[in-house]
Amino acid sequence: MNKQPVWLHTLDVQQKYPPLKTSLDIDILIVGAGITGLTAAIQLKQSNKSIAVIDAHTIGSGTTGSSTANLYVPVQNYYHQIAAKFNWQVASQVAQSRKAAIDYIEQLISQYNINCSFQRRPWYMFTKLPENRLTIEREFAALTYCDMPVDFTHDLPLTKPFTKAIKLDNQARFNPLRYLYGLAEVLVKNGERIYEQTPIVSHKEYKDYCVIETPTATIKARKLLLATHIPVGFNFLQLKVYPYRSYAVAARLAQDKYPNGVIWDIDSPHFSISSHSITGEALDLLILAGNHHKTGQAKHCCHKKQQQIVEAYLKTHFDVASIDYEWSAQHYQSADGLPYIGLASRFSKNTYVATGYATDGLTYGTIAGILLADKVQAKVNPWADIYKTTRFTPLASAVKFTKENLNVLTHYLADYPGNVESQDYLAIKPGEGKIIEEQGEKWAVHRDENNQLHRVSAICTHMKCLVKWNDAEKTWDCPCHGSRFTIDGEIIEGPALTPLKKKLFHRGEEPV
Ligand SMILES: Cc1cc2nc3c(=O)[nH]c(=O)nc-3n(C[C@H](O)[C@H](O)[C@H](O)COP(=O)(O)OP(=O)(O)OC[C@H]3O[C@@H](n4cnc5c(N)ncnc54)[C@H](O)[C@@H]3O)c2cc1C
Repeated sequence: MNKQPVWLHTLDVQQKYPPLKTSLDIDILIVGAGITGLTAAIQLKQSNKSIAVIDAHTIGSGTTGSSTANLYVPVQNYYHQIAAKFNWQVASQVAQSRKAAIDYIEQLISQYNINCSFQRRPWYMFTKLPENRLTIEREFAALTYCDMPVDFTHDLPLTKPFTKAIKLDNQARFNPLRYLYGLAEVLVKNGERIYEQTPIVSHKEYKDYCVIETPTATIKARKLLLATHIPVGFNFLQLKVYPYRSYAVAARLAQDKYPNGVIWDIDSPHFSISSHSITGEALDLLILAGNHHKTGQAKHCCHKKQQQIVEAYLKTHFDVASIDYEWSAQHYQSADGLPYIGLASRFSKNTYVATGYATDGLTYGTIAGILLADKVQAKVNPWADIYKTTRFTPLASAVKFTKENLNVLTHYLADYPGNVESQDYLAIKPGEGKIIEEQGEKWAVHRDENNQLHRVSAICTHMKCLVKWNDAEKTWDCPCHGSRFTIDGEIIEGPALTPLKKKLFHRGEEPV
């Protein structure tokens, strides 16, 4: 079984862009080549501004390339809840903006002839539990209010029993990595610059410009767009968005009969079921995703078990020939249920961010790309206000804000006095990771399958929480704000800008 997202295996040629080696002085720097960053870049390409896009890893290597690749108007936070927290006008504007974003993606694909399997097809949501029927009824009413042609249906393309289901036609699927590579090609042909393997290590805003440092270059940019999924470094929004990991598996079905659509099972845990094509247009893969938990906080510290729950659901409800891919990926939930898109803070004039999309961010990321591009050009956009970062929504945010920040505080309080998992390297078995204390310092230690020990500081470089071992992905994950690190301390994702300090074993010192 492959442990990478399926989309990585669908690229004909993986176009490579060089790392940035020399300093730049430009109008607009976009950090992050996911759907948010590349949409912003496409929007800005006619602006007569000098633009560069840089990414710490490769194009789409963040959550965009790990997504389940469905484009739909509905949202995990439900429109009836958005209406209750804000009002019906906001719910309707969110729905209209999401519909427009899907149309926009379709139009770009057609305009630039991007080969990425875009197909329109329905979205469904169902429950088998009587207590969840009301949720479906409320969401039906909310989608109807928002002018979405939703219907109750008895024809779910699944053999699974259900008590209530709704259907919304004309949603879509695509291949997100091929889409991004297509956009990148358009940008480069237009003379824009893209740099991969170029992490930013700091950014600072001055009166009229920003200075961004990478390990090999300094960039001076009039405007900085942090399209990094969560703002990197310190940002007040990190109090209002919370990191979660979800699990995905992609399988071939024995009968070759794939349900055409994206289907949400809203009973707990929530699962998204969707079919896709990796070989061309015909459906040949079923992707199941869900079972999320806060990053670094899997139940009983067992991430593998979370993945197994997804696999078990798949095998119970489908005639599976083979599970070919499994992976997990990060999303960020916001305090009031809507994304934050706009200026990085009340005091910022030139730095912009976009975050808090939950697992609906292929569409929200597209909206964000369009909005950020408009903002840096001082263009008015009718959706700017509903998503603005500086909105004050105490009633809508209070419950989640309190729960999530108490959770972070609990981690600080619990971790600092102790939480050392072993005093002994010999207690760490091959494949395991544990926190060890040595001379008052906490170390995150992993023993690999070759019996080699890897030792890095256990203190997250972002806000000093203690990292936790992720046994499914063999990574160190921070339970506070979601920074994730390799066994050798390199940053994988999240807000941290500095790797974990590495402490090598000297010859003869390494315990076996
Ligand atoms: C399992 C799962 C399935 C999902 N499925 C769907 C779906 O079907 N439909 C949907 O609408 N949404 C889905 N989502 C959500 C959606 O995929 C994301 O919200 C969206 O892709 C985020 O896009 P982005 O461009 O903002 O971030 P990303 O795609 O994460 O891109 C951010 C980029 O920033 C770069 N970066 C980060 N830090 C730095 C740094 N310091 N220096 C330089 N570069 C940096 C990263 O390398 C990365 O490439 C899913 C999410 C999950 C977890």
